[in-house]
Amino acid sequence: MTSFQNTPAFAAGLDAQDPLRLFRQRFHIPPGPSGQESIYLCGNSLGLQPKAARAAVEQEFQDWERLGVEGHFHGTSPWMHYHETLTDGSARLVGARPVEVVVMNNLTTNLHLLLISFYRPTATRYKVLMEGGAFPSDQYALESQVKLHGYAPDDAIVELVPRPGEHTLRTEDIEARIQELGDSLATIILGGVNYYTGQAFDMAAITRAGHAVGAMVGFDLAHAAGNLELYLHDWDVDFACWCTYKYLNSGPGGTSGVYVHERFANCPDLPRLAGWWGHDPSDRFQMKKGFRPMPGAAGWQLSNAQIFPMAIHRAALAIVDEAGGMAALRRKSEQLTAYLEFVIGDLHLPASTLEIITPADPAARGCQLSVLVHRQGRELFDFLASQGIVADWREPNVIRLAPVPLYNSFADVQQVGAALASWAAGAR
Ligand SMILES: *Cc1c(COP(=O)(O)O)cnc(C)c1O
Repeated sequence: MTSFQNTPAFAAGLDAQDPLRLFRQRFHIPPGPSGQESIYLCGNSLGLQPKAARAAVEQEFQDWERLGVEGHFHGTSPWMHYHETLTDGSARLVGARPVEVVVMNNLTTNLHLLLISFYRPTATRYKVLMEGGAFPSDQYALESQVKLHGYAPDDAIVELVPRPGEHTLRTEDIEARIQELGDSLATIILGGVNYYTGQAFDMAAITRAGHAVGAMVGFDLAHAAGNLELYLHDWDVDFACWCTYKYLNSGPGGTSGVYVHERFANCPDLPRLAGWWGHDPSDRFQMKKGFRPMPGAAGWQLSNAQIFPMAIHRAALAIVDEAGGMAALRRKSEQLTAYLEFVIGDLHLPASTLEIITPADPAARGCQLSVLVHRQGRELFDFLASQGIVADWREPNVIRLAPVPLYNSFADVQQVGAALASWAAGAR
C-alpha cells in the first residue's frame, strides 16, 4: 500500500504518474457554482458525457436524413445489425463469451425478462433470496414476479440483512443462508455492488453456494458494470443485467446489457417472453407463425434496436477499451478510492460523527465510498455542493462519493478532503 499524504502537491504527483490522466479530457465536466469545473463524484448515479457521444448520434441522424428506411441496410453501421456492434465490447466488459451477451431495452425491463426464464417456482422450491434494502426497482420487480406466480412476497422473498451493529453482509452468512434455504430456494438475485453501501459481493462464492442447493443465480450489475472486473462466465453465473448510464457513461435512461450463461444458449424450450428481434434472423422477415429463438442471449430480444442510445453506448464502450479495459480502470480505481478513504480518515472524526460504511477491503468494494453522517448530513451535502463537489445523497443519512478512474483525478479527491476538513472545523 502506498503511503499517502494529504497535500495538493502529493495529489498532483499521483496525477502526473497516472497512465489514464488524459482520459478526463474525453468527457464534458459540468461547471460548478463558481463556473470552474465541478468535482464530479456522482458517476455511480449518472456518468458524464463522453465528448465522442454527440458525433456518434449525429452520424445516425445523418443516415436517417439521407437514407430513411434504407438506413437499416445501407447506413454507416446498418441498423439491422447495430446491436451486434456492441456484443464484443460488452462480452469483454463482463467476462463473458459473445454468445452470452446482448444489449437491449432498459435495466428493469431486462430484469423482468430474465426472471421470467430464471425464476421458475414450484410448490416446494419457490423462494427468492435478495438483499434487504435492495434498490427499489429490484424490490418491486421481485415482488411483482412472485405475485405473478401466485406466491405471497412476504413468504417467497427472503432478505439478507447484516448482523446487528454491522453495515454490510458477510459472505459466510450469505452462504449459510443459502444452505439453510436448501431446496426451497429457486433463485438468488443480488446486486453485484450494493447501491447504498458500495459493498461488492463475492459473486463466485455466492454462485457456487447457490448451485450447490440447485438454485439459479443472477446479479443486477447496475453498480458493478464498468466498476469492477467481472468474470461472469468463469464464475458460472446463470444470468445478469446492467444499465449503461452509471459507470458506463452512456447517457440518461441509456440502453442495458444482458448476460445469459452459454449453457442456456440452445434451450428453445426455456420459458421466455418473445419478440421478433429474438427470432431466428434467417426467416425473421417471412412474418411466419412459430417463435424460434436465436442462440444465446440474443434470443431474449424483443424489439428492433434503439439506435440512438446504442450509438452513445458504442462511443462510451470504445473509451473503456481504449483505456485498456476493466483491468486498467480497476488498477487506478483501487488507488483513487483508497486515497479518498485516506483523506477522510485524516479528518480524525469520531465514528459517531462520520463513518465510512463501505468495506475497507478493496476486493469488497468498487469506486464508491458511502459515508454515514450521523448529524447534519444534509447540511454537509449542501456544503459540498456549494464547494462545487457533486456527490449524492441517500435518505436517511448517507452521502455517496464515487471517484471514477476515467475522469476523476487524485487532485479531485484531495480537494474533497479539504472541503470536508473545513466543514469539520466549523461543525466542531
Ligand atoms: C440504477 C439502478 C436501477 C435503475 O433501473 P432502470 O430500469 O435503469 O431505471 C435498478 N436497479 C439497480 C440495482 C440500480 O442501481
